[in-house]
Amino acid sequence: MRSRLLGLAAVALLSMPRGSVSPKPRIGVLDYRFVVTLSESSDTIAVDAYVTFERSPGGPDTLSLDLIGMTVDSVGYTNAVWTSYVPYSDTARAKVKRFAPVRFSFDGRVLRIPLGKPSTASPSVRQNYAQVAISYHGVPQDGLIEGTNAHGHRVVFADNWPERARFWLATVDRPGDKARVSFVVHAPPSWKVVSNGVQPFLEQPHAPGRWWWSTHEPIPTYTMVIGAGEFTVSQHRPVINGRDTIPLEVWTYPEDSAFADSVPFRRATEIVEVMQRLIAPFPYEKLAHVQSSTKFGGMENASAIFYAEKPYVERRMGEGVVRHETSHQWFGDAVTERDWPDIWLSEGFATYFDGVIGAVLDGDSVLVNRMRSNAEDYFKSAVTDRPIVDSGYAADPIKLLNANSYPKGAWVLHMLRSTIGDSAFFRGLRTYYRTYRDSTATTEDFQRVIEKEARANLGWFFHQWLYQPGYPQLDVTWQYDAGARKVLLGITQRQKPEWGLFRLPVLTLGFRGGDGAIVRRDVTVSERSRVTSARVDLPFAPAEVRVDPDGKLLLRVTAIVRR
Ligand SMILES: [Zn+2]
Repeated sequence: MRSRLLGLAAVALLSMPRGSVSPKPRIGVLDYRFVVTLSESSDTIAVDAYVTFERSPGGPDTLSLDLIGMTVDSVGYTNAVWTSYVPYSDTARAKVKRFAPVRFSFDGRVLRIPLGKPSTASPSVRQNYAQVAISYHGVPQDGLIEGTNAHGHRVVFADNWPERARFWLATVDRPGDKARVSFVVHAPPSWKVVSNGVQPFLEQPHAPGRWWWSTHEPIPTYTMVIGAGEFTVSQHRPVINGRDTIPLEVWTYPEDSAFADSVPFRRATEIVEVMQRLIAPFPYEKLAHVQSSTKFGGMENASAIFYAEKPYVERRMGEGVVRHETSHQWFGDAVTERDWPDIWLSEGFATYFDGVIGAVLDGDSVLVNRMRSNAEDYFKSAVTDRPIVDSGYAADPIKLLNANSYPKGAWVLHMLRSTIGDSAFFRGLRTYYRTYRDSTATTEDFQRVIEKEARANLGWFFHQWLYQPGYPQLDVTWQYDAGARKVLLGITQRQKPEWGLFRLPVLTLGFRGGDGAIVRRDVTVSERSRVTSARVDLPFAPAEVRVDPDGKLLLRVTAIVRR
């Protein structure tokens, strides 16, 4: 997402996710279906949730679902999962016939459902799969935000990140347990409802007052959303992938639609096409950009991105947030951080690709300027004493929406790119994406893929930039030896001892001659000692020395002194 807190400029039935390499949880959810009834006059919602899950043999005999503050009316269980894909009836009566009632326990935060024995009744029944049906109702305290929009009209928007889906959706509400999701939403007839995925194949079209959306790919619970209200929906040029046509829609409050179509989303299709060229085909079957009441600047919900409404209303919304959220569809949604300490795999990537896509569309200076402001945002932040991969905030993931996850994360990618070269970098990103698509990954997974593609041990790089806090602060002294035609350099790492020392295999120095031209020379800075001495050939006495003149490294120069 794009955090406002930071102020950064910023169906194969029951098949397992591709590239699923994590150890399987002993109960893993495969599919959620939520039938949600919304009201024009009341904040009370009624939900029928159908949760299909896989149990490993000898796994727990209880399914625990996160659900906060709702009233649970009934719970049913079946292990005859094959019947569940008969199109759903929305009525509770039909449900009762299929599901055996279960005596559940619910403490207002966790719903515990005892499970029957795996079925041996029929070879057509997948033994380790089962399904529960839960009916509940109430006024969500969070997660589903009901109220009026900036123009005074009633709207309902989900806003789940990080673990707020559980206030309205009975889920295993952790980023590591991705699943497919379907929503059937009953809403006032004048409303439109957007959600993840597409209208299910062969089902009846969206009818007034009843909307049905379904994903084919597993997505994290923090991106399982609905948005409901009065919208103008404009179709932008679709993305064509071979025989697949991916609709690209812009959902806006009617008052703001002309602005949205002509300014922030003017190049929405081109942005997707750039990511496709750099990484891989778009991961989902449609993409909707939705004006909403999310509390974040933007929220990358899979195939239905939500944006804060105010920048539309004030006509100050730009394209950067669209590039950021669109790139999350690949990094964050399709490949998801396995747990919160690895969130830079989502936010660092999206922050970097905002600049990378901008550079493809408008020239390299976009990326250069983005990286410069990313560095400034990070330097002035309060998190320089903490590493990027930070397990200290696991209980409070909102604190990870910080300058380590975003701008420094982007810098890690930028420096990795210059360390291993464009070719290995993008090949590595594509392999990483392909390997972990529709699944989850850790920083170690990413490192392993990159090291293989680069054919290099990059332990030092990952250690110093991701697990060590801070950044190098350099004092540089220089002296020209006219007889030897050499510059003698002393480079001292002045950062706090707690940050450790940094290895900079290529530190570029720029020497300005009397004619104004800059001649570049590279030196290597060692992490073994605080002071590195070097001498470089130079045919003239420089008038000025610049450190890292092309902005390739996240560092700060504290002094440049002629001896
Ligand atoms: Zn983001």
